Amino acid sequence: MNTRKTVSRRTALKGLGSAGVAVAALGPKPGSAAEAPRPSSPLGSPFSEPRKLLSERVLQTPLIDTHEHLIEEKERLRGGPHSRVPCDDWALLFSHYLNSDFLTAGMPKADMGRFLASGVEPLAKWKLIAPYWPAVKNTGYAQAVRISIRELYGVEELSEESVAKVQAGYEQVRRPGFYKRVLQDRAKIESCQVNSLTGEPFKQSDLPTLLMQDLSIVGMFAGPNIEQHAAAGIPVKTLGDWHAVIRWWFDRYAKYAVAVKSQQAYSRDIDYARVPAEQAEPVFKKVLQRDPVNPGERKLLEDHLFWQAVDEATARDLPVKLHTGYYAGQDSMPLSRLRLNAGSAAELCRLSPDTRFVFMHLCYPYYEELLALAKQWTNAHVDMCWSWIINPAAAKDYLKKHIVTAPINKLLPFGGDYIPVEPVLGHAALARQGITQALAELVEEGWLKLADAMDLIDPILHQNARRIFRLARKAEALRKADWIK
Ligand SMILES: [Zn+2]
Repeated sequence: MNTRKTVSRRTALKGLGSAGVAVAALGPKPGSAAEAPRPSSPLGSPFSEPRKLLSERVLQTPLIDTHEHLIEEKERLRGGPHSRVPCDDWALLFSHYLNSDFLTAGMPKADMGRFLASGVEPLAKWKLIAPYWPAVKNTGYAQAVRISIRELYGVEELSEESVAKVQAGYEQVRRPGFYKRVLQDRAKIESCQVNSLTGEPFKQSDLPTLLMQDLSIVGMFAGPNIEQHAAAGIPVKTLGDWHAVIRWWFDRYAKYAVAVKSQQAYSRDIDYARVPAEQAEPVFKKVLQRDPVNPGERKLLEDHLFWQAVDEATARDLPVKLHTGYYAGQDSMPLSRLRLNAGSAAELCRLSPDTRFVFMHLCYPYYEELLALAKQWTNAHVDMCWSWIINPAAAKDYLKKHIVTAPINKLLPFGGDYIPVEPVLGHAALARQGITQALAELVEEGWLKLADAMDLIDPILHQNARRIFRLARKAEALRKADWIK
């Protein structure tokens, strides 16, 4: 169902800003070409000629999305509430990550709980968030959601009057096949890379070539989480047994996985030293016996097992994606520790020159450090996933600087980083706007020739990801995945 039929294209574009124009231009065209207005800058003056040319090319170019937490479409269609789906209505679009901006704006937690609960009327939900909406509606988190609401449900502004239409649009969109419609048809995303958060280290997706998967390695060294890896069927009595379990997961899934991923930077720095098995073994024994383990011992074991997993990944040509920088959520982030991430990343690059490290989220707010890392270390890659909604202006700033500082073949421009699929559309529009803006500004400021800027679009939007993650080979394996009936 295309709810956009109810709104004229011109009306829908009015007030969208250039990100809205960006996403609207990607969607199916409801009328003749003559109906489409000329893109104009937010101030109303026409875009410069280079900006127009760059914008058109960026809009037409397929984008690879290198980081999501999307649950399977069938899980979304099952309704809610259940794990990762607190409610099955329009408020779900706010549950990840916009809820945090409301809370840090002062919304009481109990009110947010009710807003995200099942069985609360749309109008009652709107009344809960309305007092805080003016404070948060312009953040990147909110802009992505607003673009999605406009584009998917045909609603310009969220309000007491429009909220019923938002809910109706939500129900019309959320129907079988909507992942492909939102991601491929509307956002022009070629494929996604999903880090599943539903428990298993590797998700056997029903849409394996659209929702390509990371193999999660965090449970292999944090804890470690022995229960989570029980499918290996190997009884774990020694550290050697645990090494065998780790190997089993790589044997089983390395050919299907696009990368391995760890978000352990949420609980410690990424300063993993190479610790020999002899030093880790006594600590592992204590863990198995549930004896107390002090922080120093825990670090020894985690460091040892981190490299056990990373060496397996490297041997199988899998890049290693690591969370760096900003934290999801609110009222929890130890900012001073995040500052250490880029320095520790440099040490990882030195310790394992054959590993393709992918450092995620621009290590926000310390993105200058990450840029220095990408310039200096051959094996350091930068993934701008999540960045366009954390701070869209900073992400554009980073991209501009990366283009004139570090080799562009190490840059991955976009990952929506969402559990619900709908806001990916808005986030991708912000990314396309930012990429266009970065390139256009470099041309307008005289740092880049227009032809060179045009030549960067394919590498940035998809060629780098295809190469770094060996996507052609992965897609071939995934088309024949042994879990697909
Ligand atoms: Zn993520």
